[in-house]
Amino acid sequence: MSPAVEQIAQALDGVRARVERACASAGRDPAEVTLVAVSKTMAPERVRAAYDAGVRHFGENRVQEAVGKIAELALPDATWHLVGHLQTNKARPAARAFGLIHSVDSRRLAEALSQEAIKLERDLDVLLEVNLAGEVSKFGFSAEDLVAEATAIAGLPRLRVRGLMTVAPLVADPEEVRPVFRDLRRLGERIRDLTAARDWQLSMGMTNDFEVAIQEGATIVRVGRAIFGERWSPAVPTTAYR
Ligand SMILES: *Cc1c(COP(=O)(O)O)cnc(C)c1O
Repeated sequence: MSPAVEQIAQALDGVRARVERACASAGRDPAEVTLVAVSKTMAPERVRAAYDAGVRHFGENRVQEAVGKIAELALPDATWHLVGHLQTNKARPAARAFGLIHSVDSRRLAEALSQEAIKLERDLDVLLEVNLAGEVSKFGFSAEDLVAEATAIAGLPRLRVRGLMTVAPLVADPEEVRPVFRDLRRLGERIRDLTAARDWQLSMGMTNDFEVAIQEGATIVRVGRAIFGERWSPAVPTTAYR
C-alpha cells in the first residue's frame, strides 16, 4: 500500500472504532449508522483509497466537482451523497449524479428536483436540511417552517423525503451541540408520519461531533477530516479538485 492509502485506511479504522464505541455507549447497533466519507476537495486517488479500504458512501458539496470524480472513478456499488447547498439551476445534474441529496432547503429546489425525477422516470431520495440554531450563515428550513414545508414537499411526485439533515454550529465542546441533535430527532418524529418513510434517516454529526450525534440518534454521519485529513484552505492553490 502507498503511504497515502495506508494513512486513509488507518484513519478509517479509527473512525469506525469511534462509531462503534459511540453506538455501544447508547445501546445502539453500529449497523444502524452509515458512515459517509466526505471527500470534497480530495483528489480522486484519495477517494479511491477510501473505497479500497471499504467505504461505499461518499459525500460531496459541489455538483461539478462530484460529477467529474464520479465519472473518473466509476466506482461500482458506491453511493454518492450531496451534502452541500444545491442551486436550483443545478437540479438536473444533481438528480442524475447523487443517490441521496441531503441538502433540500427550499420548496423551489424540491419542485425542481421532482421535475427532474419525473423526467428520469425514477424516485429520488432526499433529506430536508434544517437550520436549528438559526444561524444566518447556514442554509436550511427553520424549525417553525418545517412541518408546513415538509407536508408540501412530501406530496411532490417522484420525490421521496427520507429524513432530515442538520449541520450543527462549530463549537469547542461537542456537548454544547447535543441539544441541536436532540431537537432534530424530535422534529423528525413529527415529520416522519407525514412522509410514510419506511427507513427514516437522520443525517447529523461531522468530525467534531459525530459521537454525540450518534448518541442522539444519527443514522448517517458525514465525516471528512477525520478520514482524509485537513482540507486545503480555499486561499491555497491546490492540484486537488475545487
Ligand atoms: C464538509 C462537510 C462535512 C464534513 O466535515 P468534517 O469536519 O470534515 O468532518 C459534513 N457535512 C457537510 C454539510 C459538510 O459541508
